[in-house]
Amino acid sequence: MSGAPTVGVLALQGDFEEHIVALEDIGVTAAPVRTAEQLARVGALILPGGESTSVAKLMDAFDLREPLRGFARSGKPVWGTCAGMILLAERIIEGRPEPLGLMDMLVRRNGFGRQVDSFETGIDVDGLDGGPFHAVFIRAPAVVETGPAVEVLASLDDGTVVAARQGNLLATAFHPELTTDRRLHALFVAMLAAEVAR
Ligand code: GLN
Repeated sequence: MSGAPTVGVLALQGDFEEHIVALEDIGVTAAPVRTAEQLARVGALILPGGESTSVAKLMDAFDLREPLRGFARSGKPVWGTCAGMILLAERIIEGRPEPLGLMDMLVRRNGFGRQVDSFETGIDVDGLDGGPFHAVFIRAPAVVETGPAVEVLASLDDGTVVAARQGNLLATAFHPELTTDRRLHALFVAMLAAEVAR
């Protein structure tokens, strides 16, 4: 393969088009991933926001669960946003859908309750220069506990963790693809560059 590796976006349900546009905006080649063959051709993968139960069902219907686990365990960068963060988790409070069990954290779906099921706020994200990131939360999950291998990158004022990293795995509770700030996409691409250089 010549040139920089492609970033894949799991394209079963949800916000995958917006992530592809965000990646293309910063000059990265992006491709939708729906099969294990397509997964094998990308260097990193985004699990977009959407509805985690639907994505989990489709993941099983398309026999993608084990290929996705193998991809992440091989050290390739994987970034879960919102529903994607739920799927990355080791454990989720509701027990369903069954997550991929990759990141050592406990996540609550719809972690902000009905009153505030959608909100936007500026948050400081470790590793991002240039001031707060405008974060859009839509029926977002919250990280309730993190294990020792997980580095917290951002929390709300009340301490709720909304962005975290564990080695090659990145999780954000909000939707960076819905704003024009591309700093998190750039951070993820830098994770891929570091992995390729290893
Ligand atoms: N509430 C959704 C779920 O549980 C996630 C919402 C989102 O991705 N915006 O799957």
